[in-house]
Amino acid sequence: MATVFAPTVFKNYIDGAWVEARGGKAIENRNPAHTDELVGMFPASTAEDVRDAIGSAQTAFQKWRLVPAPKRAEILFRAAQILVERKEDYARDMTREMGKILEEARGDVQEAIDMTYLMAGEGRRQFGHVAPSELPNKFAMAVRAPVGVAGMITPWNFPMAIPSWKVMPALVCGNTVVLKPAEDTPLSTYNLAQALEEAGLPPGVLNVVFGDGPQAGAPILDDPGVNLVSFTGSTEVGRMVSRACAPTFKKCHLEMGGKNIIIVMDDANLELAVDGAVWGGFGTTGQRCTAASRVAVHKKVYHDFVERFVEQAKKLKVGDGLDPATQMGPSINEQQLKTVMNYVEIGKSEGAKLETGGHRLETGSHARGWFHEPTVFIDCDPKMRICQEEIFGPIVAVIPFDSFQEAMEIANGVRYGLSASIYTHDVNSAFRAQRDLETGIVYVNAPTIGAETHLPFGGIKDTGNGHREAGLAALEFYSEWKTIYVDYSDRLQRAQIDNVE
Ligand code: NAD
Repeated sequence: MATVFAPTVFKNYIDGAWVEARGGKAIENRNPAHTDELVGMFPASTAEDVRDAIGSAQTAFQKWRLVPAPKRAEILFRAAQILVERKEDYARDMTREMGKILEEARGDVQEAIDMTYLMAGEGRRQFGHVAPSELPNKFAMAVRAPVGVAGMITPWNFPMAIPSWKVMPALVCGNTVVLKPAEDTPLSTYNLAQALEEAGLPPGVLNVVFGDGPQAGAPILDDPGVNLVSFTGSTEVGRMVSRACAPTFKKCHLEMGGKNIIIVMDDANLELAVDGAVWGGFGTTGQRCTAASRVAVHKKVYHDFVERFVEQAKKLKVGDGLDPATQMGPSINEQQLKTVMNYVEIGKSEGAKLETGGHRLETGSHARGWFHEPTVFIDCDPKMRICQEEIFGPIVAVIPFDSFQEAMEIANGVRYGLSASIYTHDVNSAFRAQRDLETGIVYVNAPTIGAETHLPFGGIKDTGNGHREAGLAALEFYSEWKTIYVDYSDRLQRAQIDNVE
């Protein structure tokens, strides 16, 4: 089947209309596997465009909040069906703009489908609490109320899934949205907005402004018309987002970087652990917040593990994600590739042993893209920078350890706290690990990646600020509790006073 490419000039989505950025400037969206291929031109929005979007969301909120949640949910159901119908086209668009292999791009769209169906289901739930009052003839309950205008800023690595994690719960709870996607992957967010528009979302309920962070993202953060901000991206930008939200007391949700680990115990199924480490370390070219960029291996099985892991890493076929034979795509852009290459030098200078990889791929079919070899450093010290800092590329550091306790110290000895995994057949080790690992997500006998949409997602330490994405946890963030007392006694009843005998 011939690939149908979307039109090349795109617009912002404000108040139900597709409009140009007021400044008329545009940003190129290029294929990281073939940089001479222009995927599209997207608006370079500025504060004025953002202000338009916020105004539209404020107006729309006054109606949308009164639409019964099951009716809001019906629109989400229709959007999910549209996403199902277009899954293949949207996945291809994603691979072209982002580079991840088609199979993974399909997974990204599927995650958006799952999230949309999940939140559509919540339209008929959003349960509150009813509690007995301490006073006679008095009724007490707590219900969920929408927060207002939700500002969202998203990264490029899950360009449809992550916006859906934020947009769908926000909408079903009755909020309206201003979304600023990453400048490297605007097309997938455009596709998501199209699906929602076609599903019948009223004008102004979702607004999308394309552009870069400082110009189009920052104005969302300090605008008093925005009630809540949800950000996913790097810890450095997240810290700025947190500061910018503080003066106007916005509810602020941050999902940030990770330095995730796979622990391989001496009783592990080594073949399974190797498969998990390859998928966790090199899936999405290592560009997942949950990527397993560290693998700690018990010394008793270290040699065996390293041999098998390196052999698998060497075999990975790197190339254009649209080629079904490709197993690992390019880095997202030149800057990210340079970061990867820089960390190879850092690893070497720190004394880690480069066992495979370590070079850019730039000849033949790789000549026009941001490709890098899958890279494995072994015999790493947990204090090395390659074991401490998020690289966001195809580099895995392998660290030997002697005991379970030492493995926990290595795992927890980083500033991030997103995902960790342990491979073991010992139920005691598995349960002690899930208790002691300082992360928001723990896997047993599976790699650090692979979250499902109906469970909470997020991290602790420098990864998150206490909120969670996905699952029912998302409803906590996108709604406010409103507590309601109904006194039908026809007399003044004073809590804590009149009920005391
Ligand atoms: P980034 O922080 O560079 O950008 C994220 C978003 O913030 C983009 O839309 C960008 O335009 C915007 N932005 C940048 N500067 C801004 C500013 N001054 N004001 C407002 N907005 C601004 O991150 P990235 O490179 O797009 O994504 C990679 C990072 O995201 C990694 O650190 C990764 O771990 C993290 N991430 C975390 C999760 C999670 O759930 N914890 C998921 C995916 C990615």
